[in-house]
Amino acid sequence: MDSVGVAAAAAPDAGPGPAWQSKCPWGAPNTTSISCSLADVMSEQLAKELQLEEENAAFPEVVAVAEGPFITGENIDTSSDLMLAQMLQMEFDREYDAQLRREEKKINGDSKVSISFENYRKVHPYDSDSSEDEVDWQDTRHDPYRADKPTTTPRRGFIGKGKDITTKHDEVVCGRKNTARMENFAPEFQVGDGIGMDLKLSNQVFNALKQHAYSEERRSARLHEKKEHSTAEKAVDPKTRLLLYKMVNAGMLETITGCISTGKESVVFHAYGGKSATEDKVIPPECAIKVFKTTLNEFKNRDKYIKDDYRFKDRFSKLNPRKIIRMWAEKEMHNLTRMQNAGIPCPQVVILKKHVLVMSFIGKDQIPAPKLKDVTLGSEDMKKAYYQTLNMMQQLYRECNLVHADLSEYNMLWHDGKVWLIDVSQSVEPTHPHGLEFLFRDCRNVAQFFQKGGVAEALNERELFNAVSGLNITADNEVDFQAEIEALEKMNEDHVQNHGKKLSTFSSDGDPPIYDE
Ligand code: ADP
Ligand code: MN
Repeated sequence: MDSVGVAAAAAPDAGPGPAWQSKCPWGAPNTTSISCSLADVMSEQLAKELQLEEENAAFPEVVAVAEGPFITGENIDTSSDLMLAQMLQMEFDREYDAQLRREEKKINGDSKVSISFENYRKVHPYDSDSSEDEVDWQDTRHDPYRADKPTTTPRRGFIGKGKDITTKHDEVVCGRKNTARMENFAPEFQVGDGIGMDLKLSNQVFNALKQHAYSEERRSARLHEKKEHSTAEKAVDPKTRLLLYKMVNAGMLETITGCISTGKESVVFHAYGGKSATEDKVIPPECAIKVFKTTLNEFKNRDKYIKDDYRFKDRFSKLNPRKIIRMWAEKEMHNLTRMQNAGIPCPQVVILKKHVLVMSFIGKDQIPAPKLKDVTLGSEDMKKAYYQTLNMMQQLYRECNLVHADLSEYNMLWHDGKVWLIDVSQSVEPTHPHGLEFLFRDCRNVAQFFQKGGVAEALNERELFNAVSGLNITADNEVDFQAEIEALEKMNEDHVQNHGKKLSTFSSDGDPPIYDE
């Protein structure tokens, strides 16, 4: 076997890979894997620390949480008329295209020869919801917005013959040329319809306009930079905004007040629930909206949760990155539903739309419940919290058939005198190839937190692992314990290999339908 063959065989993950990798305009992702321990990948604490460091360096100023309504029924972020216009335009274009398609169908009927209105379509394929495949910005199809330029004199400086000759200094030609040159101003610069009309602009006026346009351009660049650094702007792209706006418009949400948290993989907003007439379920008075970020960098690390999860295994390989991110949202929804059914205190799923998950808000009056790491509990409450956590871990494992896989004081909220579990997009079933390792890590976090918090009764990580899993691993030190866990996982994997896959189904969960187009 040649060396290429060996390399390919040794690193199955670095094989030809999905098509999007080779098509990606940023080039294929670097597949030389950086070696890091499972603990590193899993550690939310480490992630938070790294992120804080990064953010402090990039954005020294902390952006205040919830500065006024973000999106409301009457005004969707009127601070940005441009955004509003873009969203309305997008909607309009989509409807226009749908109409075109209907016309096309009507005209063509069963005829063997058909005509196409393709060139009249408005929505750029990138923005089209119906196109599930990623279309890159290089797409150079007819741009319906491009105005036809008025004719100007060629380079040689004159046109015509004999006494009909006109030079480039001709007032009329020059005026038209000036008008045409306005096209080079920044796109935000309002030049009116002059370009399309036969407008002649004197040199003086043109120069004044040019000066103004350039200073405007610099100003808007500064503004843009500022905006980029604000939490909300970083959080959502126009498509997500439109999605949120639609939820408000449909009456599902009353107001989106602002951002509660921006993490590496998600941004969470607070919203007041609306009185949706169409859905038969009651919408909680306050909601949390978790928007899974559609930039992929941070998700690469987490592939292993989903890739090895048999529930998603078959689908994973065929998906484009955007769909994979939707899958995280979907996973969180399914996991929350299982937990809800088992009576574990956790957010209740309201609706899932693409990469946006709406759930009930844990907290009150826009103030989210504090994380366990941020709250100071008296010793009685601490003890209560511990026993409740132990109970929930057992329920999660036995009744929901789940391992949280990111359980720590960062993902437990203290609300109404009890602990609430959140952030379960990465949760897996215990039979996941790394499920027991994940559980052990959860146990370590929980044991350490409560032991440090002074709960004398708190089991150590190994005792906790056995108590939750019902297994009886007897190793009395961490290294041996870990080794036994891995041996068990291997045994289970071999079993799966030999006896075929487990049946993959969500149907037994009683999960709500996915409200996705
Ligand atoms: P991640 O840690 O992946 O960014 P989380 O689901 O943990 O995402 O959400 C981030 C933060 O947002 C949480 O720590 C919590 O403070 C807040 N949060 C998330 N969901 C809710 C909710 N349903 N109610 C109240 N606060 C929430
Ligand atoms: Mn979290």
